[in-house]
Amino acid sequence: MLANLLEGKPLADRIKLEIKAKVEGLSKPPVLASIQVGENAGADVYVKSQRKVSESLGIEYRHEKMAQSTTEEELISLIKKLNTDNSVNGIIIQMPLPAHIDYKKVSNYVASDKDVEGMHPENIGKIIFGKAKVLPCTAAAVMELLNVTGLDLYGKEVVIVGHSEIVGKPLALMLLDKFATVTVCHIGTSKAGKLDEHVRKAEVLIVAVGRAGLIKGEWVKDGAVVIDVGINRVGDKIVGDVEFDEAAKRASWITPVPGGVGPLTVTMLMRNLVEAAKYRDTF
Ligand code: NAD
Repeated sequence: MLANLLEGKPLADRIKLEIKAKVEGLSKPPVLASIQVGENAGADVYVKSQRKVSESLGIEYRHEKMAQSTTEEELISLIKKLNTDNSVNGIIIQMPLPAHIDYKKVSNYVASDKDVEGMHPENIGKIIFGKAKVLPCTAAAVMELLNVTGLDLYGKEVVIVGHSEIVGKPLALMLLDKFATVTVCHIGTSKAGKLDEHVRKAEVLIVAVGRAGLIKGEWVKDGAVVIDVGINRVGDKIVGDVEFDEAAKRASWITPVPGGVGPLTVTMLMRNLVEAAKYRDTF
């Protein structure tokens, strides 16, 4: 069997059409405020792509660039100003931040109703109750891709490898809400020599670690759906965490890397922004 490719771009394009229609239904164009501290090539790439997608959807992208020497207090004070600025619907802090700034500390100052990354403790907490209006972008992207496969998650064995706050942990909760049987593996699972044992059971396998070739193709169960979130540079190529060629012989669906989860995450950010703007629009 050769797996169907689960590509992010066609899905992102479809969801963008829905977002655009919602933007047009708002009383004014929503505004996404982006904060970047210091110079960083990676952050420049994110900003460029977010600006491009925003503009294509009728969203105003307001970029605030602060000096490398900016203190935590100065950054927090800008966040507080944006929180109370009624023209701003969402705030995103670009990563990486300079080493002297603690992302967790400063990001907690972003008002929960302007948290387009879906990472505010209040928004994360709402996932537990199945009531979240904004979801962490990468986890939401994975759920959208799973939806494309048409697979009913009820009672399925889902194995997530990676338990980060942005991917594995929120996904586990979101999948439990679909009544999947969820196993979360991490470095401890590998150290205990049990990673392959869990992966082999997976009817749905989601991997978000950041280690090329961690998941051997031969571990993939016949017919499994495989979502590879990992991004690794190997020589001049970008690859995921799963041995793609071998896994694709067994899986029913598999995401390519690049081109799977990646193209969807910025779309999820814009969807969160429009949800935040719709909420404000009702006042
Ligand atoms: P993280 O570094 O916060 O967490 C890594 C996780 O992997 C942890 O749970 C850790 O315990 C686990 N882990 C580490 N080594 C392991 C091993 N040998 N066996 C099993 N588990 C192991 O990672 P993150 O921020 O969630 O990112 C993970 C990967 O996903 C990275 O490659 C990142 O670049 C990528 N990513 C991609 C997107 C996208 O849009 N496609 C978005 C976010 C992250």
